[in-house]
Amino acid sequence: MTQIKKDGFTFDLGPTIVMMPEEYMDIFKSCGRNPKDYIEMVKLDPMYNVFFGENLERKYEVSNDIVKLTSMLGNISTDDTEGFFRFLSDIYTRFRIAEKHFIRKSFRKPSDFFNPKTLVQGLKLKTFDSASNMLSKYVKNKDIQSMFSFQTLYIGVSPKKGPSFYNIIPMIELLYGIWFIKGGMYSMAKAMEKLFLELGGKIHYGEEAEEILFEGESCRGIALKDRDISSDFVLCNDDFPYAVKHLIKDPERKGKYQDEKIDSMDYSCSCLIFYFGLQGEVSELEVHNFIISRDIDKNLDQIFEGEKLEDPSFYLFFPSKIDPSLAPKGHTGIYALVPVSNLGSAKYEYSAKTIEEYRSAIINRMKKIPGLDNVEERIVSETVIQPQDFKEKFHSYNGTCFGLQPTLTQSNYFRPQPKWKEAEGLYFCGSSTHPGAGVPIVLESGRLASEEVIKDYGYE
Ligand SMILES: Cc1cc2nc3c(=O)[nH]c(=O)nc-3n(C[C@H](O)[C@H](O)[C@H](O)COP(=O)(O)OP(=O)(O)OC[C@H]3O[C@@H](n4cnc5c(N)ncnc54)[C@H](O)[C@@H]3O)c2cc1C
Repeated sequence: MTQIKKDGFTFDLGPTIVMMPEEYMDIFKSCGRNPKDYIEMVKLDPMYNVFFGENLERKYEVSNDIVKLTSMLGNISTDDTEGFFRFLSDIYTRFRIAEKHFIRKSFRKPSDFFNPKTLVQGLKLKTFDSASNMLSKYVKNKDIQSMFSFQTLYIGVSPKKGPSFYNIIPMIELLYGIWFIKGGMYSMAKAMEKLFLELGGKIHYGEEAEEILFEGESCRGIALKDRDISSDFVLCNDDFPYAVKHLIKDPERKGKYQDEKIDSMDYSCSCLIFYFGLQGEVSELEVHNFIISRDIDKNLDQIFEGEKLEDPSFYLFFPSKIDPSLAPKGHTGIYALVPVSNLGSAKYEYSAKTIEEYRSAIINRMKKIPGLDNVEERIVSETVIQPQDFKEKFHSYNGTCFGLQPTLTQSNYFRPQPKWKEAEGLYFCGSSTHPGAGVPIVLESGRLASEEVIKDYGYE
């Protein structure tokens, strides 16, 4: 969640899609502040464009204005429109159950999960089906199915394999909107920094935690390269699998997460991202755009089975459409993201040759979008971030973008919890912990972790 500034262009490096705006605002509200003094949010309409077909001839503008949505779906099929609204209602019911019983609570001990009430609520989530299978029971048209199931990729899991419960993601987009924070997602990080400093916090930039220190069964601080910092407790948001494997040195303090276990867990996909600065304006794109592979099933299989992608799907982010301050006058910044296999599963190298092949594949597809036919000649600035960068620069285990994959056996009680059982005074938050990945959900993991600290230490 950082930023790239180059040649006058400004890009968010990773997260761009703002969902669940209340989660963003709650941070400020819970500290007695007015969120509007920290972040400026605008709702997007349409939420995004989705392009399909050999020549991207089928373009859908997806809006959460119910009139526009009904018209867009109705132009495809009225039977499927009816089915789609039944799907939305079904998944909303499940979301309300999950919100109350799973997302907004942590599981300190087995009986917090393995009790009749929670297990009954868990069954009501009916989550044993896959996300795309569930949707296909309501909607027959392939474009509609793809348009509202690729969203599980936002948390790095295939809609063909991810539990049907994750259909809550397109539901959340439709019912709560997609928003844009002025300045991009990085403005949220800056706003949280501002709040933290106002509250008396101290931030040490450019220093890496190299070890979590213990004295007997208690955590007593962290070691940096040149000194130790002692503390009452440690709350770690380094990627959980990386932290347990590399920052906890004593196997006794790793509990069930010994190195072999960490290596054998399921990991989300990674991304290859090109940040293009273009000369001139672009008119056909929305802020968010999805270009779907000609064979989406094969594309998804290849991402998650580690095969080379023959025809990648990709996402185009065009922030300067809504915030001109992000590109020089008369220019356009476009971020192109390709979901790819993580470093643990890829059966090929992300060599310069591979990156060039993927770049050509997406540039050739972009050329089919009206107004982008000469995109390659218009590039005046370019940066690439690849899976190895996520591993090396941000300690993301296996170079993933979304941490541990949210499979059934790595979700809820079965996902790493905020309070560490193997020592007093150690807590975790972040993508690989409960409730999961994505900025609003990670904010929730931060809240759950701080509640555990408050429970143990009584801070107010
Ligand atoms: C390409 C991409 C696109 C995404 N798109 C979206 C999106 O559109 N919407 C959305 O909501 N989410 C999106 N996400 C997911 C979202 O960004 C993450 O889930 C979220 O940022 C994770 O927060 P975190 O605190 O766990 O980790 P991070 O945001 O990675 O923060 C961890 C920080 O800790 C630092 N760090 C790591 N180890 C150490 C150490 N030992 N010492 C000191 N510092 C350390 C890292 O450098 C990093 O700055 C995207 C992610 C990626 C990568």
